[in-house]
Amino acid sequence: MSKLFILGPCAAETREQVITTAEQLNSQLSIYRAGIWKPRTSPNSFQGVGEAGLPWLQEVSETYSVPVATEVATPEHVKAALRACVQYIWIGARTAANPIAVQAIADALTSINSPTPLPLYSSTPKLPKAVLIKNPVNEDVNLWIGNIERLQATGIPVMAVHRGCNHKPCWEMAFELRRRMPNVPLLLDPSHMSGDAAQVPSLCQLAMDLDYDGLMMEVHCDPAHALSDAKQQLTPAQAIEVISHLHYRDNSIAAINAIDAIAAIDAIDRLPLAELRSEIDELDDNIWSLIAKRIAVAKQIGDYKREHNLPVLQAKRYDEILQRRLEWAKKNGVSADAVQSILETLHNECVSVQL
Ligand code: PEP
Ligand code: MN
Repeated sequence: MSKLFILGPCAAETREQVITTAEQLNSQLSIYRAGIWKPRTSPNSFQGVGEAGLPWLQEVSETYSVPVATEVATPEHVKAALRACVQYIWIGARTAANPIAVQAIADALTSINSPTPLPLYSSTPKLPKAVLIKNPVNEDVNLWIGNIERLQATGIPVMAVHRGCNHKPCWEMAFELRRRMPNVPLLLDPSHMSGDAAQVPSLCQLAMDLDYDGLMMEVHCDPAHALSDAKQQLTPAQAIEVISHLHYRDNSIAAINAIDAIAAIDAIDRLPLAELRSEIDELDDNIWSLIAKRIAVAKQIGDYKREHNLPVLQAKRYDEILQRRLEWAKKNGVSADAVQSILETLHNECVSVQL
């Protein structure tokens, strides 16, 4: 099972911290990460050490024979990082919210990619092995996809990193990315997704259960004294423990077919996957025809409201329906959030057909 593990501190703080963390992680590293330019919300918090951190990353790369990764937010960052032979670069969630910034980074990469480097690059920056792009801070799958397309145009391999939106996981956004770009490797960043070290282990396992291609996780040799994101960083020992206990599922078609075949031959007490899937398809047919009927009835109600000069939005009625359904959710052990979001979508559609 080849999964990518990108581990390392939120930020490079000192040479000692960078080297100690790498040393303690050595056995588990696929790629070592450390931010040197930190896009922080407040100008009064630690902004990163800047280019002074690049030699520390080079040292890690040489000492532990491991590729290193850092965050870039401008063409100047790209130039400096690639001159220092950083092999992977990532674009953070804040920069990912700005397509002009992402395009400027893509243009910088393209100019390095071209056989004749532009004069800007006087010494030779080395092309990265891949560029990683986080999802934008606000939930917007189209912007994430647009950014991936801008970067893919450079010819450099692109990977996506799902880091949640404002500490909400936003799973649907990542599932939609997977559906529309199935060939783009997708990693989970459990540290920024949760903002809480205690939640990181279960998110890592969830990522494996969902068949993510790897993890980008923040690991610090002394999390309590980290200069940024102290609450969400694991110690190297904790990170190694989490990774060594991950359970991997087999996602090959062969494995899925094998489950069906064994179930059919041994008549074990489990319906084959294919049969369960056709049951789902049948239930979906029923659900969708009921939804179509509901929308048709809403249209008739719309005609009535128009004739009687009644406003389309009836907040009290909507609240009654919602409360009744939430009560139902509780009794039936169905997630209230899921029920609310389905009902909201349905209600919005019924309102819009009445307008
Ligand atoms: C980071 O990975 O250090 C970082 C700043 O992440 P994000 O852009 O996801 O907030
Ligand atoms: Mn961080």
